[in-house]
Amino acid sequence: MTLHGSEAGIVLDGEPLPLTVPARLYVCGITPYDVTHLGHAATFVWADTLARVVRMSGTPVVVTRNITDVDDVLTRTAAERRIDYDEFGLRQEFLFDQTMAALQIRPPDHAPRARNHVKHVIALTRTLLATGAAYERAGTVYFRGAGVPAAAGLDRDAALVLSSEYGDEPGDPARDDPFDVPLWKPSGEAHPAWPSPWGPGRPGWHAECAAMAVATLGGVVDVLAGGADLTFPHHAYQSAMVAAATGAGRFARRGFRVGVVGAEGAKMAKSTGNLVLVQDLLSETSGAALRLLLLDRPWSQPWEYRADDVAPAAGRLEDLYVAAGRKTGSDAAVDRVRAALRDDLDVTTALDVAVDAGGEAARLAIRTLALQ
Ligand code: ZN
Repeated sequence: MTLHGSEAGIVLDGEPLPLTVPARLYVCGITPYDVTHLGHAATFVWADTLARVVRMSGTPVVVTRNITDVDDVLTRTAAERRIDYDEFGLRQEFLFDQTMAALQIRPPDHAPRARNHVKHVIALTRTLLATGAAYERAGTVYFRGAGVPAAAGLDRDAALVLSSEYGDEPGDPARDDPFDVPLWKPSGEAHPAWPSPWGPGRPGWHAECAAMAVATLGGVVDVLAGGADLTFPHHAYQSAMVAAATGAGRFARRGFRVGVVGAEGAKMAKSTGNLVLVQDLLSETSGAALRLLLLDRPWSQPWEYRADDVAPAAGRLEDLYVAAGRKTGSDAAVDRVRAALRDDLDVTTALDVAVDAGGEAARLAIRTLALQ
């Protein structure tokens, strides 16, 4: 893939992506109710690497990574542990930040918390009501989502399975269409509540990210990033809500969905009992080696973690450090490292060239991929 002479762009997902200045990157962040596992780490390390490669190519980047601290899963977990949900969320967020620092992930420019953007969800909801893209039923405001599965390239049956899996309750009889989702929902005793024109309530998950994105980056972003499992329904609805509110046609110029990490033959999930925790791995290997383990593969492909892969990743990092110390090296190798990274974030090729050529090519790879 060539870059069509665009010095300011990169190739992403096989297509050139010319960038605006600054490039705007929205990364769907965590719901702070649990410790960080390798699947989360892969998403955030790759999003960080995307931003670094764009910066390397000469374009400044503004990154938003939100914190979904108003969420029914969080409320439920805090109640189970008999902790106030606010305090619980903040505690988990602190642990998350420590893990991100250990993985040398640059802090985002904006880290909005959902609780601070409830007023923006209300504003978005009002706009969508005014444009006819939403309707109210007994304190719940639904977004009209009948067209969202098709826009995401899914047939309705496949989309129904995913909507149920991610808690969108397509069976709720109050909706005009199973794919309508709440922008706003009333809160009973067990849930946090904010005043609104539709009574005390709380925002829906997709609406929170839509509002936080618009508030921090505006109505269009260059890249919307997250784990591949967020593609539908979350990213599809977040995008549809913003586009319906702004009339801009589309919210994200490009999606960046990082391949899901499996372990023991299944997707990593608490319910499956196969979580690989980042803090456990960091007790036996460095953050840089773990970063290399996550990055030395195609970003969009799902993969399976094996404990045996940690030592080879640490060994490859050592090779890279040795190569960086060499006096040899060439400008051509530096250009090849740069070109590989700009070509769909081909880290594996960049590392191969860097280790082989050594010198400045290796140092460039270490700097750009934050492997020091
Ligand atoms: Zn999100």
